[in-house]
Amino acid sequence: MPNLSRRGFGLLLGAGATTLAMPYYARAQGKPRAVVIGGGAGGATAARYMAKDAGDDMDVTLIEANPLYTTCFFSNLYLGGYRDFDSITHGYDKLASNYGISIVNGMADAVDRDAKVVVMADGSKVPYDRLLVAPGIDLIYDSVPGYSEEAAEIMPHSWKAGPQTQLLKAKLDAIENGQQIVMVAPPNPYRCPPGPYERVSMMAHILKEKGFNDSKIVILDPKPKFSKQALFTEGWEKHYPGMIEWYGPDVHGGIKSVNPSTGEVETDFDTFKGDLVNVIPAQKAGMIAAKAGLANDSGFCPIDPKSMRSKADENIFVIGDASIAGDMPKSGFSANSQAKVAAMAIRGDLTGSKVFPAKYSNTCWSLIETNDGVKVGAQYAPNEEKIASTSKFISQTGEDAALRQATYEESVGWYNGITADIFGA
Ligand SMILES: Cc1cc2nc3c(=O)[nH]c(=O)nc-3n(C[C@H](O)[C@H](O)[C@H](O)COP(=O)(O)OP(=O)(O)OC[C@H]3O[C@@H](n4cnc5c(N)ncnc54)[C@H](O)[C@@H]3O)c2cc1C
Repeated sequence: MPNLSRRGFGLLLGAGATTLAMPYYARAQGKPRAVVIGGGAGGATAARYMAKDAGDDMDVTLIEANPLYTTCFFSNLYLGGYRDFDSITHGYDKLASNYGISIVNGMADAVDRDAKVVVMADGSKVPYDRLLVAPGIDLIYDSVPGYSEEAAEIMPHSWKAGPQTQLLKAKLDAIENGQQIVMVAPPNPYRCPPGPYERVSMMAHILKEKGFNDSKIVILDPKPKFSKQALFTEGWEKHYPGMIEWYGPDVHGGIKSVNPSTGEVETDFDTFKGDLVNVIPAQKAGMIAAKAGLANDSGFCPIDPKSMRSKADENIFVIGDASIAGDMPKSGFSANSQAKVAAMAIRGDLTGSKVFPAKYSNTCWSLIETNDGVKVGAQYAPNEEKIASTSKFISQTGEDAALRQATYEESVGWYNGITADIFGA
């Protein structure tokens, strides 16, 4: 199949309405190529759905930097001792063997949009007809003065799951009674709105289990409020009385700097010292998105809410945390839901298959203490401007123990279901 340059594509469009209406397969020789950058919740789902639904009509390639993927979802349950690390780690073997997806293990370094090729860090090239970009987030280390990639080895962020998660777990397990944990929470927008507060709950669970009643966890938050705040606050008072202190910007006045060598976090109000300091800095779309010219000044990528097609390039789609997905939070569930819409649109482009109107959904579960699960979620539909929420639900304060246990059990079922949906059963 010839590689159409952007100029060539323009000429093709200029050839008239008949050509425009023809699906790609009718114009090209050989199989059309869909390439995905990023084998996480979004990218791996999209690759699986494209390969599964298109069968032999399309070639699907998945480019992923790491040989294994550790889910951020349920990484807090690993911290809390409810899961082991292996149970949240997944491979790409089923995507290759059961669905015929070509897995390219390596870092995509650039996208040549004119030539329609992904340029890998080792210089090799992967041509595409449609490209789906799902690189997740990158951390903006210097959004917290004093913080850096090196500092993260002492004050882990653990906001990308893997060695950082294991480091945080080791530091949590080493805390002694009377010692203090300090979390610097991230500003909006960031991946997993309830994530920091679920994490604090799991930290408190470990301290409580050990009878470390003299230890404290201080959250220094740049935001005046946070997701599921009433539910977390109620849970913390019930299960961990006096252990967790949350300070918004009206109290601490702003986070001025962190010092990895002393464990201090300086704010306008006071200096807080942590024996374990968990710094979660501001975030932006993964590097490749900006390098490909897909991100705007916000650091994230504008998309067409009906398809997840990039507003910068009609041959490229952006899903998951890297995208600006309107009312949808940055979550694994959202990425998985967006992947199915984008996969359908790409198949439509490349094989002429029918494209149905987009629908999206999300639920975020959080465990506060053993069998005390809460959730928040919504359904979404695209309008002219954005992906807009059409109906919402949230757990209520004061719910009985049986309902909370059922909510937790639901989250375990969700984890099993979504990881099979992403990586194949
Ligand atoms: C502590 C925590 C708890 C969470 N809990 C939940 C939860 O309970 N429920 C939920 O739904 N969500 C949860 N999330 C959020 C969820 O993990 C993310 O929203 C989701 O992973 C986003 O999916 P994604 O595909 O956009 O990115 P990712 O899942 O991060 O995948 C991106 C992939 O792209 C790869 N990549 C990036 N750049 C390149 C490149 N240039 N070349 C090759 N590969 C590349 C990366 O290696 C990675 O595998 C949680 C997050 C955190 C931090």
